[in-house]
Amino acid sequence: VGTRAQSEVGAERLKRVIDVLDAEPIIDAEMLKFLRWAAEYYRHPPGEVFAAALPVLLRQGRALYEPLEIWRATARAWQTDPAALRRRAPRQAALLEALRARPAGLDREDLEALGAGWRDPLTALERNGLARSVEIVSRAIPKAVSTHGTEPRLTPAQAAVVGAAISNPNHFQTILLQGVTGSGKTEVYLRIIDKILARGRQALVLVPEISLTPQLIERFKARFEAPLAVLHSAMSDTRRLAGWRDARDGGARIVIGTRSAVFTPLEAPGIIVVDEEHDASYKQQEGFRYSARDLAVARAQRHGIPIVLGSATPSLESIYNARRGRYVKCLLPERPGAAQQPAISLIDLRRHASRQGLSTPLLGAVRRHLEADGQVMLYLNRRGYAPVWFCPGCGAAAACERCDARMTYHAARRGKLQCHHCGSQRAAEAACPACGTAMKPVGQGTERIEEVLAGQFPRVALARFDRDSTQRRGELEGLLDDMREGRTRILVGTQMLTKGHHFPDVTLVGIINADQGLFGTDFRASERLAQTIVQVAGRAGRADRAGEVLVQTEYPEHPLLARLVTRGYEDFAEAALAERRAALWPPFSSLALLRAEATRSEAVGTYLQAAGRVARGYRDSAVNVLGPAPAPMPRRAGRHRGQLLLQSARREDLQNLLAQLAPKLEKLPGARRVRWSLDVDPVELF
Ligand code: ADP
Ligand code: ZN
Repeated sequence: VGTRAQSEVGAERLKRVIDVLDAEPIIDAEMLKFLRWAAEYYRHPPGEVFAAALPVLLRQGRALYEPLEIWRATARAWQTDPAALRRRAPRQAALLEALRARPAGLDREDLEALGAGWRDPLTALERNGLARSVEIVSRAIPKAVSTHGTEPRLTPAQAAVVGAAISNPNHFQTILLQGVTGSGKTEVYLRIIDKILARGRQALVLVPEISLTPQLIERFKARFEAPLAVLHSAMSDTRRLAGWRDARDGGARIVIGTRSAVFTPLEAPGIIVVDEEHDASYKQQEGFRYSARDLAVARAQRHGIPIVLGSATPSLESIYNARRGRYVKCLLPERPGAAQQPAISLIDLRRHASRQGLSTPLLGAVRRHLEADGQVMLYLNRRGYAPVWFCPGCGAAAACERCDARMTYHAARRGKLQCHHCGSQRAAEAACPACGTAMKPVGQGTERIEEVLAGQFPRVALARFDRDSTQRRGELEGLLDDMREGRTRILVGTQMLTKGHHFPDVTLVGIINADQGLFGTDFRASERLAQTIVQVAGRAGRADRAGEVLVQTEYPEHPLLARLVTRGYEDFAEAALAERRAALWPPFSSLALLRAEATRSEAVGTYLQAAGRVARGYRDSAVNVLGPAPAPMPRRAGRHRGQLLLQSARREDLQNLLAQLAPKLEKLPGARRVRWSLDVDPVELF
């Protein structure tokens, strides 16, 4: 990250340069400054911050422009009779066919994708002069950019947002685009990007999870005749490096990526878009705990370019920033065309009979919508069969041996118990180890809901969408396709349902249990619940059919819930912000959380107490030091966990204290006996 002619470190301690990998710096001075700033803000070691910002291969010492070995069919290969070769050496023939199908050549990764065991046939082909390897160095060359596809005529509200975003393209400005699902936010992004590309600039688009939003990428590809780089963690390291390099060199005009893509270098940045800006996945939860949304805003400011934060349910932080005039708020109040906003109503679980968590009115609605040829989506944020494996004899519930948590019962594969916190598993004991009574599942998870529905609607195609049902390659895509194309009539799923899917024929959305979010220990619990309800509800009635949304709860009179349902997210946000203000929670204060964990609980206490003493020792500090206290789940994966919370009305005060405290943390008594971490602007308080 820098060079020096002299050093105060003794010559005997200096190391020799082994190799100079790159002829030019891979990160420019501006990006370096940005990363240094981020390291300072999050009080994280700069080396780890640089590492987080680089593709894995660069981190491992690969040069930026390493030649890539590819294999091509030779001239002779085109004269060979494939049928003859197929009889003699079928695997060589198949490989040759693949090589001939792609004259530009296949790289190692393409060959891997063809299936295992390509090495030997390839060597044979090379020996016989049918294939040869070449080394290429690809430096992307910017190509002309154009749009295609039909563009809908923007509504006046959409046009106003596009106008606001590009009115001053060389100035930093944050636009908070709030529009219900289906109101045309993506269309707005596309139009803004179109204008920015026309000025010869690049666009960076951040999305929560790429695997869940293949449709978004398709829309970008369909609209723009422009090189596009997609960056996410499920890609191979080679592809990722290539995309990163194209973005850096300007070959890629549009970069779409998840969290870490916020660090992608850009040759000519013109706009940043953060889609679903409220999504928790923008926050890195381990190591360098940054918020990609917040860093994106900081980055736009450094570049002097506009940034658009889009969501149907903006975070309370962003709503507050708009209210204070830091962000420009733009609303898309209606869905274009005929699509209507779905009506949300509550079902009081105390007043209606229910069958395994499904109330009579909800079951009735499912039947009604199926009969009217609609599709149904049911949301429950709990995978597995039942959250409790229970003994009716003595009241015991199966617990995880390594966590302060219950085991979830999974019915698949003859019944097993799984801890959703540490992943440990065991067979479900049939009889209670304490009293011998037969154990049974209590409560509902997605598997159980699926089972009940299968009993109620035996002839209806039903599918489950959660982490368990989408583990294998292709399963997720398959489930989404079946739903989109109408083969699945009822889809039961978890949080994964809330992400931007467009299923035009869904007319009923049911939220099986809203209550988990109403009384959560985290001050963000109600905000998350409201976002989930609105996001899931947004899946209903997206096309020309009206949607209906039913929310089951035992607390229909809960003020925040009632407000959300009767008056909408805006109004909910007002009320929730008032609560936050009263309790001095963010955005009315800034937080930092020092976490520590160890196999022995005393070690945690000793360390956090020492940290607390230091933090309290700064006189005239305007920072509240709360704790140490046990974490909401005091033991997880066999480790005891505690935390110290720092809270301050002003961000600067907190930053000043952290500047003094952070360097001391590793030297405190007992620091070596715990695992500790500092989380600035934590999203989860556990
Ligand atoms: P969001 O991103 O807010 O969910 P989209 O941009 O995906 O909304 O728009 C929802 C649907 O409405 C899409 O099918 C889109 O093509 C269509 N749409 C968006 N803007 C317009 C418009 N101005 N006129 C007609 N249809 C539109
Ligand atoms: Zn566990």
